[in-house]
Amino acid sequence: MSNFPSLGLPEILVRAVHDCGYTTPTPIQQQAIPVVLEGRDVLAAAQTGTGKTAAFMLPILARLSSTPRPRAQAVRALILTPTRELAAQIEASFRDYARYTRLSALVVFGGVSINPQIAQLKRGVDVLVATPGRLLDLAGQKAVDLSGVETFVLDEADRMLDMGFIRDIRRVLQLLPAKRQNLLFSATFPSEIVTLAQQLLHDPARVEVARSGTSPSQISQRVCLVNKGQKKDLLTDLIKDNGWFQVLVFVRTKHGANRLAEQLSKSGVPALAIHGNKSQNARTRALAEFKAGTLQVLVATDIAARGIDIDELPHVVNYELPQVAEDYVHRIGRTGRAGAAGEAHALVSADEFGQLAAIERLLGRKIERFTVPGYVQTENPSDIPPPERRGHSGRDGAPGRNSRRPQGQARGGQDRRGSGGQRQAPTRSR
Ligand code: AMP
Repeated sequence: MSNFPSLGLPEILVRAVHDCGYTTPTPIQQQAIPVVLEGRDVLAAAQTGTGKTAAFMLPILARLSSTPRPRAQAVRALILTPTRELAAQIEASFRDYARYTRLSALVVFGGVSINPQIAQLKRGVDVLVATPGRLLDLAGQKAVDLSGVETFVLDEADRMLDMGFIRDIRRVLQLLPAKRQNLLFSATFPSEIVTLAQQLLHDPARVEVARSGTSPSQISQRVCLVNKGQKKDLLTDLIKDNGWFQVLVFVRTKHGANRLAEQLSKSGVPALAIHGNKSQNARTRALAEFKAGTLQVLVATDIAARGIDIDELPHVVNYELPQVAEDYVHRIGRTGRAGAAGEAHALVSADEFGQLAAIERLLGRKIERFTVPGYVQTENPSDIPPPERRGHSGRDGAPGRNSRRPQGQARGGQDRRGSGGQRQAPTRSR
């Protein structure tokens, strides 16, 4: 069985992935890392959840850290990705993997002020993670020098296509030097992607991970640490920004389900709650709409969700973590699309750290953390009572009698969409 050093990665990166809790490379990493290290172009069929980010990031970092930056302001690796959420996640992975290198990264996307991005680019970054629109804006203002790009990554190419970015991608390609390494990642290969791959890649190594039935290991799981009072805004943004449909959201109480469904609907995201207090009629109607795709979000308690006979939901959100770790596995087991990996997101506030630790112990690994610009965890976990002192809530009912809101816990969305510039600082590793 291969391990990270045997793939040819330097010790500073092996140490970083071990810090992340990875012991064995995933199949996509085993296949891709050696060929990317060789400098070859790669065509990879891989979905989210397979470990594809590390599959391209680690060998890129290995190559960049082995040679000095030739020009102060030139970007050396460009990663193009469809959404700002993905862009932020990739940059977070960079921070994890590059922590023992001297490399820097910057993430740029629209919707936030462009000036801090311009200032950071002037100072020079090794790795630029970008969404196409903002990258082209920066290029239009001559604020980014892409003429020194050594490796170009097109991530989630099929999703780029779905989102109408194909022309933007072609414009970006014109800004890159002719001699470069290209890596294309896509979950599916419609004809436009095949054509693009033929034009973009030179004698690519083909890397593919076998699809099989959905199991928890194939579900992409992510945790966003967030203040309790910001969860509803974060959920609304995630659903709207990523265009999620058929989202099953788990909450702990019936009352919480009603309130969240109402809040989502008010924010323009059609949602209904199902739980034990709803009439059979109301439940049946909500389910029918949800299955038909006309209802975007279903907010459910664990018990009510057992009656949902849809096995292949694209998105499951743990709005509140369950008290029993095994319930987490049942909840996320509802995701998956036609054998493809589904996405399970958990919004975790400081008072749920004990439950999160229990879930990670059960899974035997740490779940990837992700951040969304404007949402930062500022609650102090030391203000929160340890899990064993907290009450055990009723599964599908009112909170347990010992249940109480932790003291000193911030409520309200004080950090929401703060300056907009807070994620713009390049992350330079130690
Ligand atoms: P990705 O497909 O890049 O979105 O990664 C999916 C998840 O797998 C993320 O939570 C990663 O942190 C995690 N991951 C990536 N590589 C490994 C590995 N070799 N061992 C364990 N977890 C990993």
